Amino acid sequence: MLFYLDRTVLQYVDEQELKLTDFLEDLCTARRNGRHLIFSEKHTIETLLKLPNLSDRARRTLSAVLRRLRGKLSIYRACMVYVRVVHGNKVLSKELDGHKHQILISLDMINGDELFSKTRILVENRTDGNFYTGLAKLLIAQDRAVQGLMLAYELVAGGGSQTPREYQNLKNSNYLVYCIVDADTDFPGAELGSNTAGPISIMEQNSPHPMKEALILQCYSAENLIHPSMIKSALNLTGTESWFVTLEKLAELDLWNYLALKTRKTCSDFLGGSDKNVYWASKRSSFAPPACPPPCVKDRCSIYTPLKGTTLEKVSNYLNESIEGIPHALPDHNNPNSSEWYKIRDGILSWACAGGRIS
Ligand SMILES: [Zn+2]
Repeated sequence: MLFYLDRTVLQYVDEQELKLTDFLEDLCTARRNGRHLIFSEKHTIETLLKLPNLSDRARRTLSAVLRRLRGKLSIYRACMVYVRVVHGNKVLSKELDGHKHQILISLDMINGDELFSKTRILVENRTDGNFYTGLAKLLIAQDRAVQGLMLAYELVAGGGSQTPREYQNLKNSNYLVYCIVDADTDFPGAELGSNTAGPISIMEQNSPHPMKEALILQCYSAENLIHPSMIKSALNLTGTESWFVTLEKLAELDLWNYLALKTRKTCSDFLGGSDKNVYWASKRSSFAPPACPPPCVKDRCSIYTPLKGTTLEKVSNYLNESIEGIPHALPDHNNPNSSEWYKIRDGILSWACAGGRIS
């Protein structure tokens, strides 16, 4: 997370010099260890450098921050959320600043080390987390303005339907928390999944917390955010496999985000009067002709061949490995999930941005 030292913190120099010095020591340690970023105006840092009780290490860190201010401007611009440390009495709020959110906090609201620890990224399971962070790193690597930006975070696997409970636990902490879950919706207009996305959405409305945020992805599951080109590379396909050709076609359609990719579809999924089946019936022509002549033999019928359960793990391993070498090249043209990709990128970039270690 980027910590912006507002110019009003200079009022603490006369009022609470020791508290200000302690805070700067903690923040500089976090910066040196590559957990957070510090940003400010030149004059503010120059004034803080004159604090008499500041340690030499903290002074060196702030001097390094001062030298790199100009270079960090593009990261500050890219952050959609950041912490602004301000002078005040028990200030802790989140406010809109242009198109960004700033988390305002005064020194009397900072207690303990949790705020200076790595941001917690809460996900349903570790595979989802590795995929979302791998995707974010890939999109950061492809953006000249933020290329080379480091991320610092700790993944917390909520454990499927236990994720809302874990989110509540983290809401009671002083950690910075960013939660990413899929909506679990299998047709447009469907209600959010009742196990995870639904309860988390209600928590966001009823008990918002400035230092925690949840992103609910508009898709059935994390697999829907995979681009077929990732599967092709991760599984070493030729691209001519018939199931893959079908997948590529489906991935260009609006229905893609709602398709339960790991579940077989049969004729019966396209019949009946439920909202879900009416939607899928309207999409029947996007799928292969009937697999079986009526009457349907449900056990043998397969109108859509599901992805294997291990696909997401293979794709996320592949993405994370590709970033170490040559990042996977994403196609330029728009696809149904690119807007969700950029939400993931912006969220992870903002909540987990960090700098390299400073000795
Ligand atoms: Zn059938």
